[in-house]
Amino acid sequence: MKNILSLLAVVLFTTAIIAPTGAQQPQGPGQGAAPAGAPAQPPAPPVRTISQVRGDLYKVQSGAGVAAVTVFLVTPEGIILADPLNPEFSAWLKAELATRFPGKPVRYVINSHYHWDHARGGGMFTDTARFVAHENMARNLALPIRQARPPGDTDDLDGDNRMTREEAQTGTRANFDRMNGNGDMFLTQEEMAADIRRPDITFSGERYTVTLGGKRVELVHAKNRHTNDLIDLYFPDERVLFAGDYVWINRLCCNFAFDRRPMTTWIASLKALEQIDFDIIVNSHFEAGTKADVVAYRQFFEDLMAAVSAGIREGKTVEELQKTIRLDKYRNWNGYTQTAVATPSLEQAIQSAYANLTRYSGN
Ligand SMILES: [Zn+2]
Repeated sequence: MKNILSLLAVVLFTTAIIAPTGAQQPQGPGQGAAPAGAPAQPPAPPVRTISQVRGDLYKVQSGAGVAAVTVFLVTPEGIILADPLNPEFSAWLKAELATRFPGKPVRYVINSHYHWDHARGGGMFTDTARFVAHENMARNLALPIRQARPPGDTDDLDGDNRMTREEAQTGTRANFDRMNGNGDMFLTQEEMAADIRRPDITFSGERYTVTLGGKRVELVHAKNRHTNDLIDLYFPDERVLFAGDYVWINRLCCNFAFDRRPMTTWIASLKALEQIDFDIIVNSHFEAGTKADVVAYRQFFEDLMAAVSAGIREGKTVEELQKTIRLDKYRNWNGYTQTAVATPSLEQAIQSAYANLTRYSGN
């Protein structure tokens, strides 16, 4: 089982983390580096696109396929930006915004959570912006790695509060050299957080509203889905929700085995999102969708959990469940019949649900 779970971890997160900044990121050994002796290839320019979602709300995509996504809202008094993603991206975005919206500086940067693949690069906007996040974000950045793990299934296995290249997994390994500021053999929490601007404004409740130029965005705590500081951004005038990791559209999910929180926590978070009055959902990765897509995604979690729970009660092995659970309703989703980047197959989803349900209380 361990090997299959490791594979699942790689499948889930490798591309998700590498894709956002595209070929600008140096690759670690075994992570796409050219073979020794091969001629050096010039890096391809990253694919970055800005598109209107609704009204003055725009989506910015960095990278193709799985991508990393952020949003910004233009108001008469300036711009409210969500995740800055990384220094190269935010430098590019700052120039784009100056050209497209002259005289409208970024006044707020709202970090969805502490993970480096979304939170880095805020320093580009410190001259004009204030930084907002859930209070747990600042805490997480100061915690030992084991208590605030990096994205990409990476953990500090030997507990020495620093990661070797071997301990770092997937995207964190691929970006090891980039983040290893002092060039030694280890990656520390401080090094991963070096490009992350700490918030000026934090909140601790369920919601916090940022207003600017007569427009508003509501920050909604995601109730411990994925990380304990994760917030989703609700734009009530546009009826749009920007959701952090992972609310995927027509796509199997997730690595519940590594996640270390009961599947029921995810389901409760998704149900809370359904109570919000929105039409369009923009995700931190992958495609945008509608509220109906979020409902279907939550139902997938519930159907998967129910089927695997029933099998566990009957004493079946995970291998038996992988052969018998079909969940045909989701046959057209990414990952079900074909391999999709950063997406588990149905067998892998069953395996991760099995591990979660037999490991964590609260399910
Ligand atoms: Zn994350």
